[in-house]
Amino acid sequence: MEYEAVIGLETHVQLKTKSKMWCGCANQYGAEPNTNVCPVCLGLPGVLPVPNDEALRLTVLTGFLLNCEIPRFAKFDRKSYFYPDMPKNYQITQYDKPSTANGFVEFEFNGSGSTDGRSRVRITRAHLEEDVGKSTHFERNSGLDFNRAGVPLMEIVSEPDITSADMAYEYLNALKEILVQGGVSDCDMEKGQVRCDVNVSVRPVGTKELGAKIEIKNMNSFSGVRRALDYEIPRQIEAVKRGEKLIQSTRRWDDVAGITEQMRTKEDAHDYRYFPDPDLMPSAPDEAWIASVKSRVVELPEARKQRLMREYQLPAGDAEVFKSNVELGNYFEGIAKQAKNPKAVANWVINNLQARIAEVSMFMMVEPGFNQTQMGFFGLDDLKFKPEAILELVNLVESKAISHSAAQQVFAEMFDTGKSPALIVQEKGLAQVSDTGAIEKFCDEAIAANPNPVADYKAGKLAALNSLKGQVMKLSKGKANPALVGEILERKLKS
Ligand code: ADP
Ligand code: MG
Ligand code: ZN
Repeated sequence: MEYEAVIGLETHVQLKTKSKMWCGCANQYGAEPNTNVCPVCLGLPGVLPVPNDEALRLTVLTGFLLNCEIPRFAKFDRKSYFYPDMPKNYQITQYDKPSTANGFVEFEFNGSGSTDGRSRVRITRAHLEEDVGKSTHFERNSGLDFNRAGVPLMEIVSEPDITSADMAYEYLNALKEILVQGGVSDCDMEKGQVRCDVNVSVRPVGTKELGAKIEIKNMNSFSGVRRALDYEIPRQIEAVKRGEKLIQSTRRWDDVAGITEQMRTKEDAHDYRYFPDPDLMPSAPDEAWIASVKSRVVELPEARKQRLMREYQLPAGDAEVFKSNVELGNYFEGIAKQAKNPKAVANWVINNLQARIAEVSMFMMVEPGFNQTQMGFFGLDDLKFKPEAILELVNLVESKAISHSAAQQVFAEMFDTGKSPALIVQEKGLAQVSDTGAIEKFCDEAIAANPNPVADYKAGKLAALNSLKGQVMKLSKGKANPALVGEILERKLKS
């Protein structure tokens, strides 16, 4: 019997707010331990939490970005458990009434269940809660830092729609891209801003019923998630093939050993005794509040890529470049709207402009006296020419006023000096010769001077035409219109 994996992810993301979830302390990474704390986030008796409006907004914004519904009623609950770095002994979270639910993420992934190389993972819910403090274990004692306690934390729960380690990896990357570009979180993995619980089970291919859910807790890197699944899926399949009965349990990933180990089973699961937090009003956003959150929705990278392909008939590769380099994409769109041939504009922007900018930046880095803080210093803002100059250049090529090789010279010159393409063509005498009389003369000269290729061509070696073409281009100093040269040469050789 063949088995398949079923995976659902719970992704915790720290929100990008200035202050914490229930108090005015800074939401700041890397401060001296216990300097961003107050009676509220230390859980001292008698304090009252005040919800952070921006955190609620970012959660609802996430809902919009993940195609979710935005309920008009959400509330906060207490989830009770004891842990030294959780000062209140309960975590405030959203239990049965989350701020947003029922959405999906779509991303590029070629695998089982995907269509056109795209896959979809449904989002069960995204709810708002708070982070806990951080314990550090020393040789003989432990330290507690409460700077992180009460930092707004969002949990995004997926449906069990993921079917492989690679798909989980791509889903997480897509999710991160959405949250970063959407302005919800910086998702800085180094700072622990994204953590993930991985739920995985296996079942016989073709069956619907889910197998026993095994949860791998607290993963802090996407590649770790992939590696853990690459270990755990075959482990479970081998176990059921041996006739073992898997039970619902929680495991830990040992990154060094590259294995998962059992921590606890369902029997010793916590009873969290959820109940509505009596200190907090439910959140019942009005239309104006929701509308103002909605106005912050930006076009997401993948949507942008699809739109660029649709609107400008760009190939996927070009659209991908503009998806990952947003600034370059904006630059392209700024001129492509007026272009007859947007693909030609994209070629110049990607192959010439982007490449040249990278070259100049590299050059600046090796210059003596260059300081590291200037890295990335040379960019689109520093260009000497206006974006429209690219359009002008494309038009000169398209109208055959200049050749492709001349266009390269024009580009180099306008990049260095900021002069307009028309002026450069004039100053350098780069206008393409489309005067048939002049080209006829060059063709006659080339034919007279190259008897061998001429004989080859007449004997049926059609490739010999290229060498004659080359000669004509040389005689015209690169200015002859190559298409015309070809036509005229062929006519002369055939007659
Ligand atoms: P819990 O309440 O224990 O957190 P949930 O049912 O809410 O469990 O599911 C948590 C996560 O586990 C979700 O992402 C869900 O898609 C996933 N999940 C649930 N059951 C399974 C299963 N049998 N196999 C794999 N993933 C599962
Ligand atoms: Mg869970
Ligand atoms: Zn505080």
